[in-house]
Amino acid sequence: MTASADRHSLPTKATFFVCFQAVPTTLNTQYSAVGGAYAACWVVAANPEAAYTKARFFVAKSEWEVVGVETPPTEVVETSFEGREIGLIQFRTAQTKGIAIVYTCWSKDGLTEAGPMAFDEPGLFDLNAYVGSKKKLSRTGRCFHPESGDQCGEFISAHSIQRNGQLSVIAHEGHVYTLSMNVGDLKKNDGSASLVKCGIGVSSTFFGFCDKHDNELFAPIDKAFLVPTSQQVLLYAYRSVCRELFVKENALALIEGRIEALPETSALRRTFDAMHSGTSFSLEALRIHKSALDTLIDDLAHVDIEYVLFTCRQPQFVAFSGLFYPEFNFLGRTLQDLMDPECRLDLLTFCSVPTHNGWGFLFAWHKSSAPTCREFMRSLATVSHEDPRAGADAMFRMVLSNCENTAFSPVWWEQASSQQKAAVLECFNRGVDMFTPTDPAYLTYGAEDVSQWVFDGVYASHD
Ligand SMILES: [Zn+2]
Repeated sequence: MTASADRHSLPTKATFFVCFQAVPTTLNTQYSAVGGAYAACWVVAANPEAAYTKARFFVAKSEWEVVGVETPPTEVVETSFEGREIGLIQFRTAQTKGIAIVYTCWSKDGLTEAGPMAFDEPGLFDLNAYVGSKKKLSRTGRCFHPESGDQCGEFISAHSIQRNGQLSVIAHEGHVYTLSMNVGDLKKNDGSASLVKCGIGVSSTFFGFCDKHDNELFAPIDKAFLVPTSQQVLLYAYRSVCRELFVKENALALIEGRIEALPETSALRRTFDAMHSGTSFSLEALRIHKSALDTLIDDLAHVDIEYVLFTCRQPQFVAFSGLFYPEFNFLGRTLQDLMDPECRLDLLTFCSVPTHNGWGFLFAWHKSSAPTCREFMRSLATVSHEDPRAGADAMFRMVLSNCENTAFSPVWWEQASSQQKAAVLECFNRGVDMFTPTDPAYLTYGAEDVSQWVFDGVYASHD
């Protein structure tokens, strides 16, 4: 099964590997049975851009609509596929035909985000086992409390956005609208993100704490309005980080499961290996941020947390809790280069919070992330100083573009105009559309006048 190393020949043009996630159009012969597929392409082209365009064209030609990029164009040589028979065959096909594509499909039952199944070799991937392991993972409780261990109680489905005081405030008949990313909904919406109705009992939950530690640790924010004290701010930031850790750990375990299930020679191995290293890298960075916060939780000396709080007396219509590594500021200037291996990956958390007189928009970060986060907030101050409404719009679009853990009031969403809905979804898609690199100016335009937020107070931990 091993490739003969002496037979490799260098192509005159370069060969690129690119992998898309795609859904069949109604004209596709697989439409009735298949929910979606990975389209792994080997392309001979002059440069990565040309390879990308060519691959997309051929995928579309077979009536597949691209909804995501799993692996951006990466230059490969014959020896890249040593010992990987399928990859080697496709590589050689591309040398003679200019392109070779392998589709790996998953079933129509995309509602459960079913995993891939090699279309040509149905026995290659056990779909039921994959769906089962995904469900099991998302329900496998663990406790992220710094003192977790023997004293942990029962693992619970904890809310990352408070049920009382936030979700219940915006809900209508026990439901809110949340972002749907499942394949079935993507297809209904031409490959774009959409909002779906969801019960508040399951919205924003994760099994990341035991009941004892969840109740103990988060009482100062779950049982009281935000004052704010640094302890409360720390707890909001900590909960955002723990949820992200839970999500990322599960994602990594799933990828590892897929890799284990793949035969050694599978062409998919490259794709999953790339996904594995990307996910491991961001998980490692997140663990470092979490352990810095663990230290603060341990000694209760919460001085190392910084924040900016905006308060609002208007009725709340959206609740959110998220985090990201700010790459560009509100003026479109670069803050940190996330592709640089030396990048510190300064982390910013943000969430909506219940306050005495309404609600608040809280930005919080560990002091170690201050260089980037302070500059980020200064750019917001610049925008708001010139035009407070523009500042509020910028904050709203930042939430949409960076946070999938967002819930909308059904009353607000259902009354929004079609232009407003389109503007909201366009910003959401900036966060999920992986075709194009992030536009440095993504925080400077979009969803103007949609939120109508007016903030009446600003509180900061620093100058
Ligand atoms: Zn615990």
